[in-house]
Amino acid sequence: MENTSEMQLLERRLDAWVAASRPYTSGGKVASYIPELSKAPKDALGITILAADGKAASSGDSELRFTLQSISKVFTLILALMDNGEAAVFAKVGMEPTGDNFNSMLKLELVQPGIPFNPLINAGAITVSSLIRGSSPAEKSARILQFFRRLAGNSRLAYDTGVYLSESETGDLNRSMAYLLRDHGVLEGKVDEVLDVYFRHCSIQVDCADLARMALVLACGGVDPLTGETLIPRRCVQIAKTFMTTCGMYNASGEFAIQVGLPAKSGVSGGVLAIVPGRLGIGVVGPALNAKGNSCAGVHLLETISKEMSWSMF
Ligand code: GLN
Repeated sequence: MENTSEMQLLERRLDAWVAASRPYTSGGKVASYIPELSKAPKDALGITILAADGKAASSGDSELRFTLQSISKVFTLILALMDNGEAAVFAKVGMEPTGDNFNSMLKLELVQPGIPFNPLINAGAITVSSLIRGSSPAEKSARILQFFRRLAGNSRLAYDTGVYLSESETGDLNRSMAYLLRDHGVLEGKVDEVLDVYFRHCSIQVDCADLARMALVLACGGVDPLTGETLIPRRCVQIAKTFMTTCGMYNASGEFAIQVGLPAKSGVSGGVLAIVPGRLGIGVVGPALNAKGNSCAGVHLLETISKEMSWSMF
């Protein structure tokens, strides 16, 4: 389908789809293990869809600001691959889904070698954060923020300091994971410094339009179609999209592939980034989460649109 008519169709139907999905917010809970996240509006739902020609369709609470959380893991993985190359990254982190929760430590000891199963679970993403180049944690974090700003085409992207502090103060599970990884020789450097880099990139604040623009760069093979600039090597995008498909929705990735059929990544703030390869970037937010930590209404909305528009890749 040609983009203009597809976007016109989306513009016509998006409000009705958001209205039909919004009731699903009541079936979920806003994350509270990072106390600051519990302040998010439970019944919010918003979406922005951005096409390669710059046309966008938005509906609902698309201007709500939220933190990237686990969505940031896709982009720190890409930066780590660009900094170190594939061999060095995959010496420290695997390529397989776990079937466990995103913050599970179970398989770190159970299955050898004791490296995290993939870069999108917390243990893997913390390891990836340790691989970002920079002479200090501040420099690493600044490089990440700068990279994310370019991907979002938004020089104003910044940390949500409240969420960052809230997670730093309460992130003992992640801290214990990092100590285990360090003892195993997987994670190098000081645990507190690595976690500071990790907590900071999780706390970068966006809205649906920012997320859609970051998604569009992935959809277009690493080129920002709005500027023509290549921001990511094609191979790194290919790796990231593959992980999004196999592990992006945690241990609901199989179900999401069947019901929606698009590469995607969710975060505990209720954000979901999804791509229609070659064509569209999508940013969704709906803070009420299902039992597996994905946005209840956000997943329902993506399922509806993908089915209506026949977007599944499979
Ligand atoms: N910062 C969050 C954490 O480490 C990210 C997890 C997520 O979004 N699933 O717990």
